[in-house]
Amino acid sequence: MNIIKDRLNRNFEYLRISITDKCNYRCMYCMPKDKFGSNYTFLKKNHLLTYEEIIEVSQTLKNYGLKKIRLTGGEPLLRKNLDLLINGLKHHAQIDDVCMTTNGSLLTRDNILIFKKNGLDSITISLDSLSTSINKIVNQVDSAHHKVIDAIDHVINIFGKVKINMVVINGVNNSEIIPMIEKFLDKNIELRFIEYMDVGETNDWVMHDVLTSQKIYDLISSKYKLEKLYDKKDSTSEKWKIKEHMLDIAFISSITKPFCSDCNRARLSADGKLFTCLFSDKGYDLTPYLRKKDKYYNLENYFQKIWNNRSDQYSKLRFSIKPIKNKKNKVEMSYIGG
Ligand code: SAM
Ligand code: SF4
Ligand code: SF4
Repeated sequence: MNIIKDRLNRNFEYLRISITDKCNYRCMYCMPKDKFGSNYTFLKKNHLLTYEEIIEVSQTLKNYGLKKIRLTGGEPLLRKNLDLLINGLKHHAQIDDVCMTTNGSLLTRDNILIFKKNGLDSITISLDSLSTSINKIVNQVDSAHHKVIDAIDHVINIFGKVKINMVVINGVNNSEIIPMIEKFLDKNIELRFIEYMDVGETNDWVMHDVLTSQKIYDLISSKYKLEKLYDKKDSTSEKWKIKEHMLDIAFISSITKPFCSDCNRARLSADGKLFTCLFSDKGYDLTPYLRKKDKYYNLENYFQKIWNNRSDQYSKLRFSIKPIKNKKNKVEMSYIGG
């Protein structure tokens, strides 16, 4: 295996793969309904990477340190026969850790069992509220959340545990933080509070909408005793245990505590563009390297060059004197996969 470093001496280990840019939700922070309506042009089916191509990229990148893959989107469960992709990533590309993030609305006990049997290592479910009326505002769906709660229990039964992502939008779902903790207090869950990020150009992000991890921590610790858990060196979250209960909580503080200096991840869009930062405005097209099989299109060399040249640290520089946040055309979360 070749260990490669970028210009800030960071390794490559983790690939997040968006397998579709479509979704059955319209979360206000990701695909606001007014911008992702019937006029929005999604990727055409014949522009999507095939499962074989995704597996080929993963197998190649494994030679450069790839250990972990997360399937995401859009909503990954909108793609058919996901078990074939999972199987190929785990058993053909031999990726150590294959996980998935989903809104959970299409998970069933049966498909979870099939995913596990084919090699999926874990599932993260996004859930921003337990209230039907707040879900309607945040996720813009007629509540599917009872299905999501069922899915959470199925994942715990089958995998032993589950991570839940909750994006907190100041003034919208703050009131759901404590109910979410109460609901999951004695389940084997890691409930992760994610600071609302300025990804893409459509969500009209302003700092005022961010409820910081510190404020969420203060709220929770006023009610529960928290005990610090160990965080791995390259972890993007800070973890705590709710004392005397099974629930762990974690804070992902991309806005107030950026983790760029340890960022070992790249992203692959559904149409085969590789991005070296969540806030990139430009991806590197891998499709010629997958489809034109001749000596000028060597995927290994191309990836090595891309990673060696990488110097992204958007979150760290977000509030710097020369703001790069004014850069235009940042790609959308639903396209790049979070
Ligand atoms: N549809 C799947 C889901 O929602 O879990 C997977 C894709 S979604 C883009 C991946 C994760 O990104 C979700 O947990 C979602 O809550 C989070 N996310 C989306 N937009 C965000 C934003 N602007 N700030 C913070 N997290 C965001
Ligand atoms: Fe869909 Fe996930 Fe984006 Fe919500 S966060 S709109 S569920 S892709
Ligand atoms: Fe990595 Fe870019 Fe996020 Fe920094 S802003 S942690 S470089 S993806």
